[in-house]
Amino acid sequence: MNEKTVFGRIIDGEIPAEIVYRDESVTAFRDISPLAPTHVLIVPNRLIPDMTRATADDEPVLGRLLLAAARIAEEEGLADDGYRLIVNCGRHGGQEVPHLHLHLLGGRPLGPMLAD
Ligand code: 5GP
Repeated sequence: MNEKTVFGRIIDGEIPAEIVYRDESVTAFRDISPLAPTHVLIVPNRLIPDMTRATADDEPVLGRLLLAAARIAEEEGLADDGYRLIVNCGRHGGQEVPHLHLHLLGGRPLGPMLAD
């Protein structure tokens, strides 16, 4: 069995976070170290470690993550000016927490897609 990540502990209410959305499949909360005026993480309630390990069974929850992100972006007032969704995967992707998550970033121009 996979060990619970910090995000699993947030989903289970074991550590605090500012939750902005929750349903039976996904939970979204503000990043502890925001990189933009809005920085929300959208996470599947059931552990999927990363995109590489997502399977066909995960297709519904992957769709739910994207639609939840769009809904939260709208609620956060980002829809008109736009925003960015990021999924880091593995070492080269810079993934720190091994629990699949979407970063929703917005509230200012976000610059080029990659830093270098
Ligand atoms: P990654 O690099 O894995 O794509 O992103 C992990 C994100 O999780 C980082 O932006 C980091 O700031 C955020 N993070 C790490 N630990 C916590 C935590 O305990 N609470 C919250 N709200 N965010 C966290």
